[in-house]
Amino acid sequence: MYTREKTRPVRVGDLVIGGNHQVVIQSMTTTKTADVKATVAEILRLEEAGCQVVRVTVNTREAAAAIPEIKKQIHIPLVADIHFDYRLALEAIRGGVDKVRINPGNIGKRDRVEEVVKACKERQIPIRIGVNAGSLERHILEKYGYPTAEGMLESALHHIRILEELDFYDIIVSMKASDVPLAIESYRLAAESFPYPLHLGITESGTLFGGTIKSSAGLGTLLQMGIGNTMRVSLSADPVEEIRVARELLKTFHIVSDAVTIVSCPTCGRIDIDLISLASEIERFTENIRAPIKVSVLGCAVNGPGEAREADIGVAGARGEGLLFRRGEVVRKVPEQELLDELKKEILIMAKRYEET
Ligand code: SF4
Repeated sequence: MYTREKTRPVRVGDLVIGGNHQVVIQSMTTTKTADVKATVAEILRLEEAGCQVVRVTVNTREAAAAIPEIKKQIHIPLVADIHFDYRLALEAIRGGVDKVRINPGNIGKRDRVEEVVKACKERQIPIRIGVNAGSLERHILEKYGYPTAEGMLESALHHIRILEELDFYDIIVSMKASDVPLAIESYRLAAESFPYPLHLGITESGTLFGGTIKSSAGLGTLLQMGIGNTMRVSLSADPVEEIRVARELLKTFHIVSDAVTIVSCPTCGRIDIDLISLASEIERFTENIRAPIKVSVLGCAVNGPGEAREADIGVAGARGEGLLFRRGEVVRKVPEQELLDELKKEILIMAKRYEET
């Protein structure tokens, strides 16, 4: 099986997807791409949240024409999402995109595919083949009767073969389905069958709540199997939420090394402080801190020092105050109303130290 590190490294702008490189977090804009101002504003918010590659739909000539200006104003690789119209792909490539998401088998005659591949080769940009259970080729659906993992693999291999015949190997593949077991099985078959990096996603996974759970179940299973080189969590929500969920998921599997991890207790009758607010505030505060700090927020000191031993910094509540811990050792007592600020200060000091090392 081609687990993560055994996949072919593929360059996307200044990043590499595949090989032993970290899993790259992606999202997609929700604006009209032709509206440069709105699109750039959304991309900048995504960048700040930790998005590493962003995709925009290129569904009209106006959208394609906006690419150069968008590219100028952002700092992460830009991907053009193309459906069927190879001319839009060519215009987006000329406009400076760093990757194209297009299925070569869907753009018609061979000479069109050749033109797109030639343009990608010239600019040294990869192609992402996006297999989707909801839009499998008719002959595959007829063969299998309904979307299956085998059918999705057959579709992927069909598109891959077209590119390989043209001596093109900078390929990334996604095998998306909104049905989680189907997506997992499709990615597993893909990882067994070809060495190209896999872009993970549970498509149309749902709202912030439901979609987070579905994506975490699907992508989490795959990540734990060693599958997946880049991922997008698709949510019916502000795309910044997709980045938050993706980062949290990668943290869960120890795949991102530069993020703050929060450990907080579920609270119980022993609690004497407003821990839920404190934990949520700290979570928000640390979202954009790029340092591997483990923060523990516990409601009381019953298990405090023990549970906080693994944490770099932590608090345990007491009546109207809290104990501040560093690696399990009590540092000082802090009044409850100052706990949040004190904890923030300590985290910032640690983050600064990390930056300087
Ligand atoms: Fe309850 Fe204290 Fe455990 Fe939190 S840390 S769940 S308040 S016993």
